Amino acid sequence: MRTPLVVGNWKMHGTVAEARVLATGLRDGLKRPRGVHVAVCPPFTALAAVSEILAGSPIQLGAQNCHHEPAGAHTGEISVPMLAELGCRWVLAGHSERRKEMGESDEQIKLKVRAILSHDLTPVLCVGETADERRQGLTFTTVEGQLRAGLAGLSADQIAKTVLAYEPVWAIGTGVNATPGQAAEVQGYLRGLLSELASKEIAQTVRILYGGSVKAENAEALMAEPEVDGALVGGASLNAQGFIGIVRKAARIGTAAKE
Ligand code: PEP
Repeated sequence: MRTPLVVGNWKMHGTVAEARVLATGLRDGLKRPRGVHVAVCPPFTALAAVSEILAGSPIQLGAQNCHHEPAGAHTGEISVPMLAELGCRWVLAGHSERRKEMGESDEQIKLKVRAILSHDLTPVLCVGETADERRQGLTFTTVEGQLRAGLAGLSADQIAKTVLAYEPVWAIGTGVNATPGQAAEVQGYLRGLLSELASKEIAQTVRILYGGSVKAENAEALMAEPEVDGALVGGASLNAQGFIGIVRKAARIGTAAKE
């Protein structure tokens, strides 16, 4: 049984004051979520404030990015130990916005995944095809390349400690989500690759989230797919009630699976 995980990616949104309001709304609205794990990834500037608000709450803290070195002359960068010090347990790696806007390469993403694991945090490795790649029938080729590169050189035990997020680029921030069938097809493919890279048993334990225009209205149908172990949520995570609605859907599915 893979407990569903819902991760909110706040992207570059919110002042510290706004982040405090959002985090307080989540903390007060999600006192004891059962059958689901929850994390939020605020902007770096709000991590300390949100960490204080969420202390003692079941909502965990994550970051949207990291540098792969623990320290050094890397102006403007933030290392994994710095994130850990603020209470982060999760770090996104390879989000498509960073791949595109910052030109992040598979090689850099691989180093980030290794750094995150080496400090005992959990990487959420994002993979996904563009609309053009899907049109050209390159969906599986693209996600396979990103997955193999991102996990290259990891032991089976390290792979067991990662989370994957299938995020078709054409679905991110567009309001057009993948259908549950499309998500399940790609995520099943990714799980098959995990069997090869780690083992069949480990592949069955790794959570694969879906991300791309998830909202309370479509979350249940997506997460009802056995291959979809939760959601990475961008836009809809900026509204406490909207995000709580998604978490409740995931909890219902997670609790039902246990009964
Ligand atoms: C994301 O940023 O990872 C994402 C899935 O965004 P949205 O939910 O807004 O599509």
